[in-house]
Amino acid sequence: MSFSADYRDARVRASPNCGPRRNAMRPDMLLLHYTGMTSGEEAEARLCHPQSDVSCHYIVHEDGAVLQMVPEAMRAWHAGDSCWEGERDINSRSIGIEIVNGGHPANLPPYPVRQIDAVIALCRDLVERHNIRPNHVLGHSDVAPGRKIDPGEHFPWKTLAGAGIGLYDDDRGTVGPPLLGPGERGQPVEALQALLSLYGYDVAATGEYDERTRLVVESFQMHYRQGCIDGRTDRQTLDRLYRLSQKARA
Ligand SMILES: [Zn+2]
Repeated sequence: MSFSADYRDARVRASPNCGPRRNAMRPDMLLLHYTGMTSGEEAEARLCHPQSDVSCHYIVHEDGAVLQMVPEAMRAWHAGDSCWEGERDINSRSIGIEIVNGGHPANLPPYPVRQIDAVIALCRDLVERHNIRPNHVLGHSDVAPGRKIDPGEHFPWKTLAGAGIGLYDDDRGTVGPPLLGPGERGQPVEALQALLSLYGYDVAATGEYDERTRLVVESFQMHYRQGCIDGRTDRQTLDRLYRLSQKARA
């Protein structure tokens, strides 16, 4: 299969790992990943290998080079078992971007500036062409808490938001003592869960700060409160979640 790039600055290397988007769904979400492999070439080869069953629409190399592997009209296989706003077929409603980075196995190497510049330019084009809302620019960890931890707590979400890509809340607060944490139960826990769920995370309002809740809070912190990722809820975590929820609905 060959096709011409949807993004003007991309070269094409077609992956066979794709299919039609289901239920005529159109992409309204950007899902960002890191490759978590030792090299970009290795990641590229895996995403194109007919037996790997994985792919993405775009891969962004460390030098900023962008490659398109699946046409945007098609469903690429990058999200796996995921959920956001109750929708479980994330592949059908998203565009997947793999960012070359060694990730946690390599102790979270920094993302080079020119790579992030390329990610921003690509995202800007996608957001404009597909009319994607800021709260729909997400990481793999947001839609698969406990299963996925990419693009990792060093990914510069704040820089992206400064360039108009995605939501971020940059208050001046600091990490504080936990207000809520594992093992607690009651109405405040239920309210926290409801707020997380309203924002899009897949968590039920059970009123119990269970393992699922801890993992979802951790995912939230990896994206929106990178200074401390402990799965507990302090004032700063709660304030950011509340303000982001308001911005998302604005
Ligand atoms: Zn991923």
